[in-house]
Amino acid sequence: MTEQRGVTVWFTGLSGAGKTTIRMAVEEKLRAASLKVEVLDGDVVRENLTKGLGFSKADRDENIRRIGFVSHLLTRNGVIVLVSAISPYRDVRQQVREQIGNFVEVFVNAPLEVCERRDVKGLYRRARAGEIKHFTGIDDPYEPPDHAEVECRTDLETLDESATKVLQSLVNQGYIRHSAG
Ligand code: ADP
Repeated sequence: MTEQRGVTVWFTGLSGAGKTTIRMAVEEKLRAASLKVEVLDGDVVRENLTKGLGFSKADRDENIRRIGFVSHLLTRNGVIVLVSAISPYRDVRQQVREQIGNFVEVFVNAPLEVCERRDVKGLYRRARAGEIKHFTGIDDPYEPPDHAEVECRTDLETLDESATKVLQSLVNQGYIRHSAG
């Protein structure tokens, strides 16, 4: 009996919104249930698969298309792919959604002020100081999803609540069995 169907879970949101944190919590649960999981983390991918790309719209879109391509290959082989990438542009997110098919978009949403206060990597401070240009939310756009399958308001809910929402969505859509969620 198949315990999982291939799917890409796509975490989008501002830097510091909580994409990586929720992704890790979801990953832990899925692995504990012995499911096949792969992770494409935006920061990691930019060190290899998409090394050399910058932060213009064209380069950001190319970054997402490459992540989407690999996600597509894995998804069609039955893997649960967890992608965390700011992915600020709606049109290219829609493109990868159509390419992959089995796609769950998770809008990891916290107000800019909250993300900036967290400043997990110290990047907002540097962006405000003008040391980083084209920083999403400061001097570069972020287009929120219109129809994300899941929205996690990380300023209002606990990590556990956020992760549970994502897992429950996978159960509801028949990608995993209840026991894994
Ligand atoms: P991103 O990957 O989106 O850049 P991170 O996951 O690296 O963001 O950082 C998010 C920060 O917000 C972490 O320090 C995390 O502990 C904190 N946080 C607070 N509440 C939540 C929540 N409900 N879900 C996820 N992260 C949260």
